[in-house]
Amino acid sequence: MIIIMLGAQGTGKGTVAGIVSKETGLPQVSTGDIFRKNISEKTELGIAADKYISSGNLVPDEITVPMVKDRLTWEDAKNGVILDGFPRTIEQAEKLDKMLEEMGQKVDLVVNLVTPREEIIDRMLTRRVCTNQDCKTTYNIKLSPPKVEGICDKCGSQLKQREDDSDPEAINRRLEIYEEKTSPLVEYYDKKGVLSTEKVSVSINRMGIDVANDLIEKLR
Ligand code: ADP
Ligand code: ZN
Repeated sequence: MIIIMLGAQGTGKGTVAGIVSKETGLPQVSTGDIFRKNISEKTELGIAADKYISSGNLVPDEITVPMVKDRLTWEDAKNGVILDGFPRTIEQAEKLDKMLEEMGQKVDLVVNLVTPREEIIDRMLTRRVCTNQDCKTTYNIKLSPPKVEGICDKCGSQLKQREDDSDPEAINRRLEIYEEKTSPLVEYYDKKGVLSTEKVSVSINRMGIDVANDLIEKLR
């Protein structure tokens, strides 16, 4: 089962993917997380990706696509994966289709999270992540704060704000790129008949956890 999480920054893609991954055993493959892990470990891939990420730009396909392709061959991915942050362009989606075809698989479900713009920016500014790269739990200091300020509930490590979440320019650039390059994927997957759009907003009291629970129910 190949599931794709689609949606702008701050809609809760990663949160939903994480919960569904735990329940279904399908690994969460977050390209952003893989990049950040490589950056913190100063690998060649991390060094190459860093300048794009800190300025809020997309990492080129020559780096991103082989990285995902490799990840899909891991043993834990044999029953499928939950893709979080990939694909992000029509080109990447086409490359993914090709990759999956070669593996005898296809995209089964695309969950498209939609959140009002004002809420999105607020959520990005109030997002905090665990600095332990093996944990990387995400919190929101307003919506889902940790029990002790600045400390991860799960592993006790320090929480921090992502560099690209603290820079208004990087935030705006990411949202612009989302609109321009990523949002056409909604139509791309709708045409294939695999799209499921979910609104996430405090205004209707529906958060990522609610979408995740419905999804788990549906997949059972
Ligand atoms: P967000 O969506 O909140 O910006 P992510 O963790 O998904 O955060 O991604 C962080 C950064 O990693 C992106 O801004 C981009 O620079 C890079 N990135 C992640 N996924 C991709 C991708 N599929 N293609 C190109 N760059 C990517
Ligand atoms: Zn943690």
